[in-house]
Amino acid sequence: MYKFNVEKITIPLKQHVGAPCKPIVEVGQKVKRGELIAIPNGLGANIHSSLSGVIEAVTESELVLKLDEVQSDDYVKLAKTDDYLQKIKDAGIVGLGGAGFPVGIKLSTRIEGGYILANAAECEPILSHNIKYMEEHPEVIIRGLKYMMEITGAAHAYIAMKTKYRKALLTIGKACKDEPNISVKILSDMYPAGDERVIVREVLGKVLEIGQLPLEANAVVSNIETIRRIAEAIEDDKPLIDKDVTVGGRVKSGRVFFDVPIGLPLGEFIDQAGGYIKPHGEIVRGGPFTGKSAKHESPIDKTTGGILVAMPYPTGKEKVGILICECGAGEDRLREIAEGMGSEVVSVQMCKRMKPDKNGRYRCELPGICPGQAEKVLKMKKDGADAVIAGTCED
Ligand code: SF4
Repeated sequence: MYKFNVEKITIPLKQHVGAPCKPIVEVGQKVKRGELIAIPNGLGANIHSSLSGVIEAVTESELVLKLDEVQSDDYVKLAKTDDYLQKIKDAGIVGLGGAGFPVGIKLSTRIEGGYILANAAECEPILSHNIKYMEEHPEVIIRGLKYMMEITGAAHAYIAMKTKYRKALLTIGKACKDEPNISVKILSDMYPAGDERVIVREVLGKVLEIGQLPLEANAVVSNIETIRRIAEAIEDDKPLIDKDVTVGGRVKSGRVFFDVPIGLPLGEFIDQAGGYIKPHGEIVRGGPFTGKSAKHESPIDKTTGGILVAMPYPTGKEKVGILICECGAGEDRLREIAEGMGSEVVSVQMCKRMKPDKNGRYRCELPGICPGQAEKVLKMKKDGADAVIAGTCED
């Protein structure tokens, strides 16, 4: 286990798609690493204590745990069962690529003869923990895929990767050499290759409409760490209490950390990566394109993949236009950046491929097949913008 310098951790009760979990512990209660401390209250996933200690506070949104001085890698094991799906539900596994959808629910639908698609696109710049894990432990990913195929009835698994991850391609290719039902599929090096609909389109050749799920193509898409944690839950009876993260940006020695206990502050791992390079700007939780602003003391949760330290905001032009696309920062984040630059937002435009779904939420109709944005930029200029802030588009 990593050595760390904090006496308390905060465990959020909402680390997934759905409602916050319901705590089942009280203030003053002693808990062990791996012990169940909160259960779903509607859509959600179990939450277990990632370290041992005494519960110091319970609120509607979080639990605070005063840590024991001595910690161990050991954990309270999940109840024995041969039901793999139940084991995944018990473990509280959610989509660890950032989406946070409860995996026990995702895998509850049978897809006889269908496909498990492993998303190894590692699309966001800087993030590298998934690829590094594949380089070092490809056999775990193969076993995780087999469990997922058995649970769902899928006939074949594809691992979708880019050729630029040469070493991981070689190791995973070697690991599935004797697996007739698991193969590697090459993705083009574009953004957002890791989008679920892009993976389905590129691997299976089926174009999903806005709002359609991979299930429409008889497929389930899952990110690499999620597959790893599924294997761990089934083989080691391990609940989801640790997370892999990449620390990068303006830190002295950016690197990957495997098995970081959930709840530790982001800043703890910035310190362990050598500390900040000065001057620096905000901390971003997630990738550079879709990440969100966070604080030094914000806790690592189940969906935290990146801990990035940005440059200070440049001093902005007075008036800016913001360009929203599904694959990048949304309106709130772009407004936050504009505010950080001291700029006024005078025009808000969307990529022309963004169309409303049946709930009125704007989604991209063809992710990764991106149009030029000249028309939108001209509109911003007409609205009085001196500069453009865009989530991802370079045009
Ligand atoms: S088409 Fe537009 S919204 Fe879709 S991925 Fe490309 S830039 Fe993003």
